[in-house]
Amino acid sequence: MKIQTTCLNCLLTGKADNVFVHAEMRDDGVYDLTCELGHQFTIMVQQLKFEMLFDMGSLALLDGYFRESVATIAASLERFFQFYVEVICRKMKLKDADIESAWKSVSMQSERQLGVFLFMYLIETKSPIKSFIYDENIKQGSETVKVSKFRNDVIHRGYIPSSEEAHIYADLVYRFMYRILKELKVSANEAIGETVRYPLGKANLAMSAGLKTTQCIPTLVSLSSGVEPPESFYEAVKVLKKSRHYCYPNSSS
Ligand SMILES: [Zn+2]
Repeated sequence: MKIQTTCLNCLLTGKADNVFVHAEMRDDGVYDLTCELGHQFTIMVQQLKFEMLFDMGSLALLDGYFRESVATIAASLERFFQFYVEVICRKMKLKDADIESAWKSVSMQSERQLGVFLFMYLIETKSPIKSFIYDENIKQGSETVKVSKFRNDVIHRGYIPSSEEAHIYADLVYRFMYRILKELKVSANEAIGETVRYPLGKANLAMSAGLKTTQCIPTLVSLSSGVEPPESFYEAVKVLKKSRHYCYPNSSS
């Protein structure tokens, strides 16, 4: 999977016919690139892991890879839990190094991460989470099961979800994330900004001097979008259908 960016030098000087540069997606979101005229530059993608993973899972869904979609959106949800925990820790003015160190103790076990999330939510809102995503009902074959079972069956038992099941799962996760984000933007907006900027600052320090810019990708679940998101995944994914070849070139139809 690739992302598309622009060579600012070519864009500003108007010298190249093609100002776009494609790059294979990277885990750290930092891309050292060279355009077709040889200009070297670095871009840092501003979107956090859960934002990127949700788009990747949505693209898999559009292309008919339903198991891959559920697995990737499940990974997005887990990174979303981590994001929430980090935001609340920053709101409490805890040190970045201490947050990172504490996270290492839970990073290998998703059950521990889930426990941390649920109690951070309780601390932040003063009440236990309602309609928690893993406790929602979802159709799995002829049965109705909890989302947690559906997710585990797909990831650990090789269950092959139908198109409908994968769409319903994506919609449940999409709505859950936006519900929590809406609350968080009211109670901890400043800490959200700090959490978005933290990896960018860290990457910036690690890089040598040179032309560096940040890039914003308009993901379906987005921290940076200023407009109200579409209410459902079904509406949101229509936007991705139109933008996919611009944002993610060479992704299949
Ligand atoms: Zn260039």
